[in-house]
Amino acid sequence: MKTYKIALIKGDGIGPEIIDEAVKVLDAVASCCNIEFSYEEALMGGCAYDITGDPLPQETINISLNSDAVLFGAIGGQKWDNLPREKRPESGLLRFRKELGVYANLRPVVVYDELINASSLKPEVVKGVNLMVVRELIGGIYFGEPKGRDENRGWNTMVYTRDEIVRIAHQAFKIAMTRSKRVCSVDKANVLDVSQLWRDVVTEVSKEYPEIELSHMYVDNAAMQLIRDPKQFDVMLTGNIFGDILSDEASMLSGSIGLLPSASVGAKIGVYEPIHGSAPDIAGQGIANPIATIASASMMLRYALGENEAADKIDAAIKRALKEGYRTKDLAQFDAKEVCSTSEMGSIIANYAAK
Ligand code: NAD
Repeated sequence: MKTYKIALIKGDGIGPEIIDEAVKVLDAVASCCNIEFSYEEALMGGCAYDITGDPLPQETINISLNSDAVLFGAIGGQKWDNLPREKRPESGLLRFRKELGVYANLRPVVVYDELINASSLKPEVVKGVNLMVVRELIGGIYFGEPKGRDENRGWNTMVYTRDEIVRIAHQAFKIAMTRSKRVCSVDKANVLDVSQLWRDVVTEVSKEYPEIELSHMYVDNAAMQLIRDPKQFDVMLTGNIFGDILSDEASMLSGSIGLLPSASVGAKIGVYEPIHGSAPDIAGQGIANPIATIASASMMLRYALGENEAADKIDAAIKRALKEGYRTKDLAQFDAKEVCSTSEMGSIIANYAAK
């Protein structure tokens, strides 16, 4: 039997509730796939600041680097919004990604047939959507220097180096080779110099993947096309801020932000997390949708641990729960047979996954 060490970072808001459900499901598949997990919890975000004075204690980095993968909930909340920037939960998260070198954020967007009516778009527009946003995660305007503000001006710098673009482009092309071999690179090359470099380098790297069909699109057009005809996209390659915005937009194709998982990968340990935040408005009420986090655990099994059978079981269990009409509150108005709590949804999926 194989044992995997998983670092659990529950974080703030709904983070602890949704991670507990993902763990429940992981343990359920472990027993039937001849694997086991040992978990070590680590603090990050507002809860870490409250206890240690630092939103990202060094111990959290050590525990993460000493594990096979990190399963992450979400951080942040109003309580910490007025702290100095470096003490805020979000700064801890950015630092964490940088420390772990997770430069590629993979965000699959799949529209479940069972939730076709949950999308704000027409069923014929979203039926069959299956795309992957590959977002650069540790460069671009969120990290560029100089940055700062005074009374009258605020400034940030969008900067990418050739090496940063090369590695994320390879990541996107490799993923596309396992899918339908189409990559659309999204930039703003008509206005931004940094985007012109991005476009040139992506085109150069594409020469190493002759089977890939590469296209380029300006980000404003991409935002429109995602709503007009999302099925035209397979792999969407983009930088940090554009990917952040486009993947939240794409999440609404599926009906709820509570459905979408992500994987952040790089040279070292990968971080698997839902794309949503800590949802302080619903924390502690038992109504958060745990599916994005459970699906992130499935991505962890597939990408970090190579446990495809267990991942397949989780994916099938999520589909089955939705097909049978189980819904958390965010999706309650869409063909619900039964509206369930966060914990009930976790148990239903765990039960199906164990079969
Ligand atoms: P959010 O994603 O937390 O919430 C946006 C809306 O979606 C809210 O109405 C929320 O109730 C709903 N929602 C989110 N997840 C849900 C789920 N699983 N089930 C049902 N509904 C869900 O975004 P926000 O409100 O802009 O940010 C809240 C806090 O989260 C902020 O402090 C922000 O900085 C932080 N944040 C953290 C991360 C992260 O940890 N990776 C990402 C984004 C935002």
